[in-house]
Amino acid sequence: MSVETPPAPGPGQDVAAVVQSLRAAFDNGLTRDLTWRQGQLAALEQMMVENEAEIAEALKGDLGKPFGEACTAEIDFTRKEASHARKHLRRWARPQRAASPLAIQPGKSFIEAAPYGVTLIIGAWNYPFQLVLGPLVGAIAAGNCAVIKPSEMAAQSSALLKRLVERYLDPRAFMVVEGDADVSTALLAQRFDLIFYTGGERVGRVVMTAAAKHLTPVVLELGGQNPCIVDETADLAVAARRIVWGRFLNAGQICVAPDHVYVAASVEARLLEALKHEVTVMFGSDPKSSADYGRIINPRHAARLQALLADGRAVTGGRADVDACYVAPTILTEVAPDAPVLAEEIFGPILPVLPYETLDEALAAINARSPALALYAFTRNKATADRIIGSTRSGSATINDVVVFMANPNLPFGGVGASGMGAYHGRFSFETFSHRRAVLRRSFALDASIRYPPFTKGKLALLRRMA
Ligand code: NAD
Repeated sequence: MSVETPPAPGPGQDVAAVVQSLRAAFDNGLTRDLTWRQGQLAALEQMMVENEAEIAEALKGDLGKPFGEACTAEIDFTRKEASHARKHLRRWARPQRAASPLAIQPGKSFIEAAPYGVTLIIGAWNYPFQLVLGPLVGAIAAGNCAVIKPSEMAAQSSALLKRLVERYLDPRAFMVVEGDADVSTALLAQRFDLIFYTGGERVGRVVMTAAAKHLTPVVLELGGQNPCIVDETADLAVAARRIVWGRFLNAGQICVAPDHVYVAASVEARLLEALKHEVTVMFGSDPKSSADYGRIINPRHAARLQALLADGRAVTGGRADVDACYVAPTILTEVAPDAPVLAEEIFGPILPVLPYETLDEALAAINARSPALALYAFTRNKATADRIIGSTRSGSATINDVVVFMANPNLPFGGVGASGMGAYHGRFSFETFSHRRAVLRRSFALDASIRYPPFTKGKLALLRRMA
């Protein structure tokens, strides 16, 4: 294959040249071979295994990410996604036979998973490896080339990603371009065949607008406020443990964290007690010194969160050290309905708890907001669970747990409405990065004249019956 290795993009990089070189590789058929794709997926797995310590170090530097969280949510997650895709690829890529109606007999119809071409993957900073390498697994498996643009906010992770991708993956097909919004803008001015964006809603709109210019399809993995309901039948100890774990993972900077809890007023006091207890069990009496508690991405975000701490009474936490990017795991009660902490996605370690008298009240409050990425409910009552699922909209719904649904590669991960469009993980990544191409194979036999003019009345009537 005579495809040249593209120039390594650096400061002032020529993004147009990068895209052009990847396009040449794609047009030359580099990515079509399934064995080559499996090789790239294996290299990605190897990259995660061989560089565990360095990846964890970069995540520690960017987000104070605890080692355990770096291993499970970034390194193992990506490795498993790649290995799952590598093992299932041949089955996923097999053309699906479709029936052919009489009018096109003899003929064989197929649905083939065809690569889009050159794709762009733009990631957010909170899971700097998972959020670009997860989609990349889909891009590789489906036979695409990809430009990867990690978030500049997680600078150490971004630099390491670039070095590792260059070392492990085929540079003719995969290229990391580092940089900020200006670089993103320059990339978005290029023509891509699919754009996969993870980040906030505002930039999601920018991405979609830029994509419209080239009629490029987009996948948007956005955020929003994920509601959590706890009714009076729930096991409060287990609910509190799971909610505290999910809310304070990555210091709350996770798009599927429960953002606020609606609790049946009759059990509010007991839930607050249980939540407070779990914070101490998991992070000790001084979470700042806990090895299992992360930091906020930068002082700007820490200051934003610090301001939200005043929006209620802190049952636990309520303190911040902006210079140290530390915000204590905080449970808030007595929060006014119009408080800023309820107006926007918190994306930090603060959990407002809101009592309700009737479930209808909680459902009405949930439905008054844009559909969330994730919805959670804790209840022993199956009818209540069914009702909650049946009367709300969200990217996903989990009963009696939080966050863990995303570790199931057999479930699609994505939002709806303002929380995004399109989905990935497991087979869904392969499908998202594939165009479903209709392929009809006919022979030269039986070229019946009935379909061709000139038409008599009788011929047309027969044709209409057959078609
Ligand atoms: P961010 O600021 O890192 O932005 C995301 C990406 O967009 C970055 O690569 C950045 O360089 C780029 N960007 C920024 N401004 C741009 C512009 N004007 N034009 C083009 N590109 C631009 O991340 P963020 O938006 O702060 O991320 C946090 C948000 O992401 C939260 O809302 C969170 O819920 C959401 N999120 C969603 C998921 C998901 O899977 N659905 C995962 C993680 C985060």
